[in-house]
Amino acid sequence: MASITLDNVVKTYPDGFTAVKGIDLDIADGEFVILVGPSGCGKSTLLRMIVGLEDITDGELRIDDVVVNDKAPRDRDLAMVFQNYALYPHLTVYENIAFPLRLTKGKFTEDEIDQRVRRASTLLELDEHLERKPANLSGGQRQRVAMGRAIVREAKAFLFDEPLSNLDAKLRGQMRTEIARLQRTLATTTVYVTHDQTEAMTLGDRVAVLRRGELQQVASPRGLYDQPVNLFVAGFIGSPPMNFVPGMARGDVLHLPFVDVPMDDRLRSAVGEREIVIVGIRPDSFEDAETMTGDQRSKGLLFEADVDVTEWLGEVLYAYIPFETHEAVRGKLEELDRDLDGEGMRTQLVVALESLSTVRDGDTA
Ligand code: ATP
Repeated sequence: MASITLDNVVKTYPDGFTAVKGIDLDIADGEFVILVGPSGCGKSTLLRMIVGLEDITDGELRIDDVVVNDKAPRDRDLAMVFQNYALYPHLTVYENIAFPLRLTKGKFTEDEIDQRVRRASTLLELDEHLERKPANLSGGQRQRVAMGRAIVREAKAFLFDEPLSNLDAKLRGQMRTEIARLQRTLATTTVYVTHDQTEAMTLGDRVAVLRRGELQQVASPRGLYDQPVNLFVAGFIGSPPMNFVPGMARGDVLHLPFVDVPMDDRLRSAVGEREIVIVGIRPDSFEDAETMTGDQRSKGLLFEADVDVTEWLGEVLYAYIPFETHEAVRGKLEELDRDLDGEGMRTQLVVALESLSTVRDGDTA
């Protein structure tokens, strides 16, 4: 096992494009870290630099405090699992898993190879399929073989590049649980690239959010959700995304398009008089007042709203509530929208409710 340290790591491709712009990241021995961000933010580039498939343009990469910038991939002793599995079609499951050990030419005896393959296949529940070829396996089984190949080497760290993106939703869920279990069992340092919210929020000890080659925030999933450092992270983490609403402070009240919020000292000191600000409200911060007791209601802020569309997903119901924005604050939303690549401009609230008790003419929530 190993610690992995990135010190101001930069990647500029030969065509001059800088995909990774000076990243600092400390991954502790045994830690499970997720790299997440929109398409093109540089996650795969970063992972490929760690494993040695891309040169590092500038900065330092250390594994267990040893600089490995110029070490060949095979000398870094890391195991990578790819999205497309990269299995050999003509080899059986057994031989696919044994392959990395055979590559070491004589380092392992046949007995040792057999022991390691069988240990990995039991861990991954592949014992029954050892004699099959990859073509005769399901997507999930193929993915497990790919993981088996990483496990047998007992490498210092596992690197996963979107390993589940070729699987259907149900299988993804199962494999997600398996990867979490496996990582806990083996306690191997793991770096995992995904753009899937659920994987990012459920798998890792910490999540690193990237945007345009820059690190935005590294924190526990809970930390990212509850205390995002900027609007990008706030809008990126959470599904459905956080609502962004323009507000204006006047006296002791922050006026939002649908409700006035009394400001406490903390808010008052953060927002200047008549200053226009963006307020972030998670969809799950709303409740249907009709289902609350009088006491609960008195603790919240009550407002009436016209529900435009509802989506019922079983355990949760999303209600969409359009809101009007004042001319004076519209510019702020547009500015936010430009800043967030078209992800900021919202003219409706999304609220997540357990149910909606009063859907009637002129619906209220
Ligand atoms: P995705 O989620 O879509 O896989 P990503 O975050 O993994 O995206 P990368 O594959 O790391 O993104 O690419 C980061 C940026 O670098 C992208 O803008 C991409 O177009 C660019 N890029 C990748 N490979 C090269 C290359 N060989 N030459 C020039 N630019 C490249």
